[in-house]
Amino acid sequence: MGDDVRMTEPDEDEFLNRLHGVEHAEFVRPSDAEPPRAPEQCAECGSRDVRLIRKLRLYGLFLALVFGVGLAVDQTLAAFLLALAGSIFFVIGPRWRCTACGYQW
Ligand SMILES: [Zn+2]
Repeated sequence: MGDDVRMTEPDEDEFLNRLHGVEHAEFVRPSDAEPPRAPEQCAECGSRDVRLIRKLRLYGLFLALVFGVGLAVDQTLAAFLLALAGSIFFVIGPRWRCTACGYQW
């Protein structure tokens, strides 16, 4: 008896779990839903030297920064909205880059 009574701060725990869950989900989703498959060639110049733009690491850094600052100044709602806006930016941003002409899409 008594081994299930360790609810010291359930609210904070739940919040941290949810925050981590959201962060993790955002981090995993892009590569899971859309596995990177290289396009045949550049649509602009026809070059086959097409590179994948690595923005996942930048995105993780962005989320960590936003939530870190948001928690520090106690503005988690603002941080969440900023992260949401940033997520849209990263999702619609270019993923491929042609090394020949610099075209991004
Ligand atoms: Zn090109």
